[in-house]
Amino acid sequence: MDQKKGPFDQPFIPIFQYSNIPSFSRKGFPMIKTKEDYINSLKKLNHVVYYKGKRVKDITTHPAFVPHINAAAKTYELALMPEHEDLMTATSHLTGKRINRFTHIHQNRDDLIKKVQMLRLISHETGSCFQRCVGFDAMNALYSTTYEIDEKHGTPYHSRLKKFIEYIQDDNFMVVGSMTDPKGDRSKSPSQQADPDLFTHIVEKKEEGIVIRGAKAHQTGAVNSHEMLIMPTQAMRPEDKDYAVACAVPVNAPGVTMIFGRQTNEERKFEGEGMDTGNPEFGLVGGEALIVLDNVFVPWERVFMCGEVEFAGALVERFASLHRQNYGGCKGGLADVLVGASALAADYQGTSQASHVRDKLAEMTHLAETVYTGSIACSALGHRMKAGNWEPDTLLANTTKYNVTKNVYEVARLAHDIAGGIIATMPFEDDLKNPEVAKYVEKYLKGVANISTQDRMRLLRLIENMTGGTALAESMHGAGSPQAQKVMYMRAGNLEQKKKMAKKLAKISEKG
Ligand code: SF4
Ligand code: FE
Repeated sequence: MDQKKGPFDQPFIPIFQYSNIPSFSRKGFPMIKTKEDYINSLKKLNHVVYYKGKRVKDITTHPAFVPHINAAAKTYELALMPEHEDLMTATSHLTGKRINRFTHIHQNRDDLIKKVQMLRLISHETGSCFQRCVGFDAMNALYSTTYEIDEKHGTPYHSRLKKFIEYIQDDNFMVVGSMTDPKGDRSKSPSQQADPDLFTHIVEKKEEGIVIRGAKAHQTGAVNSHEMLIMPTQAMRPEDKDYAVACAVPVNAPGVTMIFGRQTNEERKFEGEGMDTGNPEFGLVGGEALIVLDNVFVPWERVFMCGEVEFAGALVERFASLHRQNYGGCKGGLADVLVGASALAADYQGTSQASHVRDKLAEMTHLAETVYTGSIACSALGHRMKAGNWEPDTLLANTTKYNVTKNVYEVARLAHDIAGGIIATMPFEDDLKNPEVAKYVEKYLKGVANISTQDRMRLLRLIENMTGGTALAESMHGAGSPQAQKVMYMRAGNLEQKKKMAKKLAKISEKG
């Protein structure tokens, strides 16, 4: 096989020649710059993706995937626009090259703040999850953790990871951060499960690498990524050694199968540009898949943790903080769109001057800015890690995400309140195409005289789309369920120090 040919040149060869170590030296292959480059790169992956029980040959032309791909493609498109260069790109600390910010390792507080601003910007453009943050956060969390593992154990993980990051930066690949295991019986640890594969684990160590088996659930953007960064899902005990594994796996590696999840109003995606879709170009939320890892071989140079159980918890916490940091940016940005949509809905039906509507819009703005404030605050109070990279403040990042689990539901509730029951009872777009009933729909769904019924219906569908089941559940459980944030409050909230404050003021002795 011609080793000089890249994965995106024809004929297709897998991204990595496992027999050809080092497997990520692909110098000379074109970097993905435009939306078209990105889509072409996905076409050539030939990875195993199932949708509704059937294998999908080309996800880039399949209506179930196109909106998600369009949303992720925005991370490429906006980076090429001079007006967004400052937010969307960064300078690599590894190579000095200008890179897409989604492949960057944060070098200071400013990088952390720009990340949040960037996410809010992209949410405004897509009205949807654009998926690329998960791998971004995985690279950053692994950056600090591998450094510390090496410091303790003399392992070569950090230098391996730096090579991997350089490769991602050079070609501008999209990475999916793969943390969540299916977890089976939640009362049992990984090694206590009746089925050992319910947590991803090492099944074999070979001279050239390791073999892993298991699955990763709810994987946002997995089907339209190039690489996965596998990480442990929780803190581990010594007996769970085989489950403490972090490594990079190309999505088209042998043994990888992706099964795409069903979303609320899924079938509407098949209506293409139709108005009933609500957000026809970018869809609903990110598009999640169950990734099955069936005896997947991973060369050593792609292994970044292998049995160092004592670091699994730190890696999970760092990744969680980095991802929870995002939510005031991306969900705050979606809330901005909903504020605008709700204000328009009021304009279109003549209620915009009603004082209660103005009060609700003000309340929605407050809720959106509150979550954004949290993201900016945890970034501004970020700290430098031993490895030299910067991570957000843990407690404030968790607070941000916990607020999102409440505020976004409240924003949706207020949007429903302003828009009215019509978002749940509106006729189909097809009714507008049948002259028998179109005249009635046109006539009786009309709001103010100067706005067409069609425009009003389009807007109401957007609100329905952005406040539907899957979108809200993502705000609740994405980046970890609310209880996970409460666990972090008790861990990072420094209760003992707060007890001391109270004792001091109440004049209770230290022993009291
Ligand atoms: Fe990024 Fe937000 Fe989507 Fe997570 S939910 S991948 S932070 S856009
Ligand atoms: Fe998410």
